[in-house]
Amino acid sequence: MLLDNHIAAVTGAGSGIGRAIAIGYAREGARVVVLDVNADAAAETVQQILNAGGKGQAYSLDVTDRDACRLMATKVAGEVGNISILVNNAGINRRNAFTADPDAVVKDWQDIIAINLNGVFNVTHAFVEQLRATKGRIVNIGSIQSFMHVRTPNSPAYTTSKHGVLGFTRALAAELGKDGVRVNAIGPGLIETPLNAAVRANSPELIKTFMDHTPLGRAGKPEDIVGPAIFLASDLSAYVTGSMVMADGGYRTV
Ligand code: NAP
Repeated sequence: MLLDNHIAAVTGAGSGIGRAIAIGYAREGARVVVLDVNADAAAETVQQILNAGGKGQAYSLDVTDRDACRLMATKVAGEVGNISILVNNAGINRRNAFTADPDAVVKDWQDIIAINLNGVFNVTHAFVEQLRATKGRIVNIGSIQSFMHVRTPNSPAYTTSKHGVLGFTRALAAELGKDGVRVNAIGPGLIETPLNAAVRANSPELIKTFMDHTPLGRAGKPEDIVGPAIFLASDLSAYVTGSMVMADGGYRTV
């Protein structure tokens, strides 16, 4: 299997894309450390992994808490072993325009940057020595909005955070390449998860506009991100670093 003998940590793995990646990695032989702010959701992902004959452990982790991330890295090293794959997936979205209610806009900015960008920093910083020791791989979850602003609608904070994820991916790829650590990202298009359930339910016309711009003509499923995530974590991508693999149905090509 493609990920035999790997230990993979996946943040936000209690739902959506993160859960699909965790289950997909376990299917490929990895032992998966399932991290989520929601302990029950993390436990459910591990249950699904175990039911399928895989290996996994669940831990509750809020990626915005830098000290908790450091403690978690130590705990995982002691209880599971040094990780060789890190997927920075935890993320949120809010869709207020910059000129909406000022209090809401400020809160959106603080929360989105804290989770989507500072969270990626916190977890990566906590686990980086393990990843250097194992010549590991980091997979960050970016977005179409690592390159542009998409009006589904979306907040400036979300677009800013995902541009930041791309910059962080490139910077770490440059620095850690000499240690044999590869750092890449995935750019999902519209993937049907709880993250966008409200906009899908309430704004079908916006979703139609989005789909009309998508060559493959459909929304993605979490499973659509699993193949790219396995590719970037496995030796199949041995000479790939600093890239963002788009899994967006072709949105960015037109
Ligand atoms: P999701 O279904 O909402 O899953 C996100 C998970 O992250 C949830 O379990 C959530 O827990 C958890 N989480 C939230 N805050 C956290 C924190 N502070 N620490 C740890 N875990 C936290 O969303 P998704 O669609 O799978 O999104 C996963 C990633 O893909 C995100 O980075 C998102 O920006 C990115 N992405 C998604 C799409 C899309 O169309 N779905 C497109 C492009 C990029 P709670 O549910 O308890 O909050």
